[in-house]
Amino acid sequence: YDKLLEINNLHVNYKTADDVVYAVNGLNLSVRKGETLGLVGETGSGKTTVALSILKLLPEKIGFISNGRIWFESVDITKTSEKEMRRVRGEQISMIFQDPMTSLNPTIRVGEQIAENLLLHKKDMTKKQISDRVDEILRLVGLTKEKKNDFPHQLSGGMKQRVVIALALACEPKLLLADEPTTALDVTIQAQVLSMMHKLKEKLDTSMILITHDLGVVANNCDRVAIMYAGQIIEEGNIRDIFTAKHHHPYTLGLFGSIPDMSKKTRRLAPIDGMMPDPTNLPDGCHFWPRCTDRMDVCKMCEPNPCYKDTHMIKCHLYKDLYNERGKDYIVGK
Ligand code: SF4
Repeated sequence: YDKLLEINNLHVNYKTADDVVYAVNGLNLSVRKGETLGLVGETGSGKTTVALSILKLLPEKIGFISNGRIWFESVDITKTSEKEMRRVRGEQISMIFQDPMTSLNPTIRVGEQIAENLLLHKKDMTKKQISDRVDEILRLVGLTKEKKNDFPHQLSGGMKQRVVIALALACEPKLLLADEPTTALDVTIQAQVLSMMHKLKEKLDTSMILITHDLGVVANNCDRVAIMYAGQIIEEGNIRDIFTAKHHHPYTLGLFGSIPDMSKKTRRLAPIDGMMPDPTNLPDGCHFWPRCTDRMDVCKMCEPNPCYKDTHMIKCHLYKDLYNERGKDYIVGK
């Protein structure tokens, strides 16, 4: 298959005055061209840190990639200069944040903000081409061209998020990172914005990593799903694997309220007993063992290897014999 992004053994730390926070711990992940990957996990699992690492936007002097590679097409982003990354951001990889006001300048009309983004990356476009492109991208996100003269405060929450999506997609990036893009919106607007994003993504052939807590969003919008816990992917598979396979990681079962079921009305992740481990002092072995009702002695000492079956991966000692530990028959996104 056609890989767009491949992350190998990524480790990301935050250094504070007294401690080191181990936010991402040996993460492996890939996204192929045109697909939407859902990245799911509790707050603090490291999902946003993964997105910030891909864009090289970790907080300066605090966040560090201590190991691993992030391949975007054939370029290793971990080795890319800041000058080159400024070109990549927006043009090749864009991000939509949860709160639209993080991305919008309150003092500039929205049309000008989209035009500025285009000017930055598409230096050969004429003024007329840029103006036409602004009108077109506003139309694509369901806004009239008259809205380009509005300031962000004149727009509703749903409209602001549409403008943010227009900004992110104006340069037709190859990869869109969407971090809880509709959480701040009410439910009916959420559905409209997500369906619009899905259509746009298909039209522009953009790949997407959709970071979300919402299982309804995952079921309706993603081709594959990766479940994160304590900075690692602990289960991964096609949407069908995650919602219908017989076997799951104990954390996934807890997260989905025992049995993942696409027809279930429950949309939010169910709370699981216990807390996420302290990221400055992760437990040895499987990071989930203090909360796991299936834990065995081996779990406290040895970190499990990923176990594979066709398109489905589970990182848990329970599946050593049922699944293939060496991953010979694992097919990503078959
Ligand atoms: Fe539970 Fe052990 Fe599997 Fe970890 S490896 S999820 S502790 S059974």
